[in-house]
Amino acid sequence: MKIVDIRATTVAVPLEAPLRHSNGAHWGRFVRTIVEVEADNGLVGLGEMGGGGESAEAAFSALMPYLRGHDPFQLEALRFKIANPTASLYNNRTQLLAAIEFACIDLIGQQLGVPASDLLGGRLRDSVPFASYLFYRYAAEGYSEVRTPDQLVEHTRELKAAHGFTVHKLKGGVFPPDFELECYRALAAAFPDDRLRYDPNAVLSVAEGLRFGRAIEELNNEYLEDPVWGLEGLRVIREQVRVPLATNTVVVNFEQLASNVLRRAADVVLLDTTFWGGIRPCVKAAGVCETFQLGVAVHSSGELGIQLATMLHLGAVLPNLTYAADAHYHQLRDDVIEGGKLAYADGAIAVPTGPGLGVRLDKDRVAQYAELYRELGGYPYDRDPGRPGWYAQVPNERFADPTVSVEVSI
Ligand SMILES: [Mg+2]
Repeated sequence: MKIVDIRATTVAVPLEAPLRHSNGAHWGRFVRTIVEVEADNGLVGLGEMGGGGESAEAAFSALMPYLRGHDPFQLEALRFKIANPTASLYNNRTQLLAAIEFACIDLIGQQLGVPASDLLGGRLRDSVPFASYLFYRYAAEGYSEVRTPDQLVEHTRELKAAHGFTVHKLKGGVFPPDFELECYRALAAAFPDDRLRYDPNAVLSVAEGLRFGRAIEELNNEYLEDPVWGLEGLRVIREQVRVPLATNTVVVNFEQLASNVLRRAADVVLLDTTFWGGIRPCVKAAGVCETFQLGVAVHSSGELGIQLATMLHLGAVLPNLTYAADAHYHQLRDDVIEGGKLAYADGAIAVPTGPGLGVRLDKDRVAQYAELYRELGGYPYDRDPGRPGWYAQVPNERFADPTVSVEVSI
């Protein structure tokens, strides 16, 4: 099997409402680049990449001279062809590599007639549990604002009723820490049997991180995720707070994982199939974590059904996945795959059973959302439509005002 063509299509798929985070916002849609890698036998493998609200079409087109004639089975060679560690100092193609790896695994699975999970060691579970992943959000047509503790609890109640979540992760760092602490405590009080996570995307100062961490010690926490920036910052928090720490920001490659093993900063590593350069590096990293008794979870960098499939196949094969995975997926209004969005049942999503990634593109939906991208364009993920002129600093001192309800039109 040989690669003969790579097609990239940028789509904009609407979210229920604009999602606020510590560095900006998702402006009411996800912009994703869908990658189709065609082989000489007519099979097409699927990949997907984000990009902070921007298209990555041009970057994929530029890979064609590197990959024409490449055998998709040669996954290790693929890594060195487009993202070897020293050449990557000039051209960081890790996330591009990830999307091409997804497509090659999809091609291999289709060629052999087996699901991707069979190529990755075989599935240990048929469905992967997910956390609710709660965001503060602006109101949008048909979807209410989430800002106050009461609104957050109500939103969580709706999500729990609809999808069956029993783990709730609050994406914070938007409002002052004391206000978000009040929100987190409201969740703990409203859902005493459920487990909680808080993730302010590393924007707290060490002093605020310590204060927040100590204040939640008695709650039903699974972990505190990236309260502050950097391995050194996390180490300080870990030494003084009795809550496990997690990261998806500063352990995203093997060098950083080694550092975290040698001098522990995070107890749980959130593996992201895009950030780590593919599904296979995540499986390898999970093996290291298993050896050193680090926890693993599955990170969500914002996904449509193709990337979600990579997260499901990853989750299916990891023996040490004891935490529910993250996904933004339930925030989407639609998907580009055949059959529309994959469904949650009892807080989990079934691992696709078809060959390869087990999802196929719905051509009509792709055309519809490619048109929406042409109409609306990209968006700056690191800016907030409700706070013109604002940009994020780390540590942040300029939080949004929680007493103000802002209307945005985008
Ligand atoms: Mg995070």
